[in-house]
Amino acid sequence: MVGSGPAGLTFARVLHRHGHPVTVLERDPSPDARPPGGTLDLHEGLGQRALDRAGLLAGFQALSRPEGQAMRVLAPDGTVLRDWRPRPDDLANPEIDRRHLRDLLLGPLDVQWGRGVTRVTPGGRDGALVHFADGRQEAFDLVVGADGAWSRVRPALSPVTPHYTGVTSVETSLDDVDVRHPGLARLIGDGSVAAYGANRSVVAQRNSGGHVKVYAKFRAPLDWHADVDPADAEAVRASLLTLFDGWAAPVLDLLRHGAAFVHRPFHTLPVSHTWTHVPGVTLLGDAAHLMPPLGAGANLAMLDGAELAEAVAAAPGDPDEAVRAFEEQMWARAGKWAAITTAGLERLVSPDPAAALALFDQVHDG
Ligand SMILES: Cc1cc2nc3c(=O)[nH]c(=O)nc-3n(C[C@H](O)[C@H](O)[C@H](O)COP(=O)(O)OP(=O)(O)OC[C@H]3O[C@@H](n4cnc5c(N)ncnc54)[C@H](O)[C@@H]3O)c2cc1C
Repeated sequence: MVGSGPAGLTFARVLHRHGHPVTVLERDPSPDARPPGGTLDLHEGLGQRALDRAGLLAGFQALSRPEGQAMRVLAPDGTVLRDWRPRPDDLANPEIDRRHLRDLLLGPLDVQWGRGVTRVTPGGRDGALVHFADGRQEAFDLVVGADGAWSRVRPALSPVTPHYTGVTSVETSLDDVDVRHPGLARLIGDGSVAAYGANRSVVAQRNSGGHVKVYAKFRAPLDWHADVDPADAEAVRASLLTLFDGWAAPVLDLLRHGAAFVHRPFHTLPVSHTWTHVPGVTLLGDAAHLMPPLGAGANLAMLDGAELAEAVAAAPGDPDEAVRAFEEQMWARAGKWAAITTAGLERLVSPDPAAALALFDQVHDG
């Protein structure tokens, strides 16, 4: 297994539950080497189903925040357009901090940290050969590439690389929001607040412990920040405040109070990305089907991981047919979600902000 994101850890944990050995190779030197990113909503039929197969649903329920599903929608002038709150018993899409999810999945697993993979060569006498950044090589019966958007395993199966969607996100965060910014804390509520304008939006989402992630999303060329040093927080802030000039003060305050800014252009793989099956190597999660971040990617990654683990556990002697059948199933499901999220991104960051509101209504009216 290459990668210890949601896909890799779910695969490893389900395999471990079935009593099968699995080696997890992770490039990061330690679990907390990078900030873990924002909160994830795990859907009943996808991510939660995967956790159930890992025997971790009760653990998830103890850590997740059903109230985090709440969402308020604003116009750029601050008018509240929608104020949606989940029923107390609504467990359809509770939120969980990525760090909590990672620790839940990690449990007893033995991850080899600091083992960056550079490439994989299938078809060797002892299995597929994994090449490491430190020059070493090791052969495995089955190499599962769960190494995300810029997968180093993928070239063994497919020449396709991610392409830029034309939408960029600049991310910042607020700490201790209830104490330091009580007005913003009330605006964000238990879940998130989003303001949609023409071709741009600002979204703020509560994580646990009073931490809030703020995303400014907009259409722009990939090099939009060519004149701005991304490490210069004040310069990035100034360019964002110019981009959102005229928006309501509380929305701009979300950007004014952010500490550092991280630039995340949205890339995707083609909607129907498949490959010719190669024995001994496969892909899961973003490595296989990177799509716009509209709440499906981690869910699909986890269900991929759980399903492949069960398929491999059921055919330990010769898993190749099981892997082949799994790939067909994953491609069909991912293709459907890639089409939904690609169309969703067009509506969420659209010349007509009414398109975003209509999408919100469609999702929240079922
Ligand atoms: C802003 C944002 C918000 C999102 N919100 C949601 C949400 O609410 N719900 C949802 O379902 N999805 C969400 N997503 C999408 C989700 O984050 C991804 O789809 C998900 O993390 C994919 O999981 P993965 O395990 O396939 O890959 P990743 O999470 O990318 O994990 C890959 C792992 O592989 C490791 N790795 C990479 N290269 C190598 C290498 N060469 N050698 C060894 N290890 C390597 C990485 O360090 C990492 O640990 C969001 C994405 C973004 C950007």
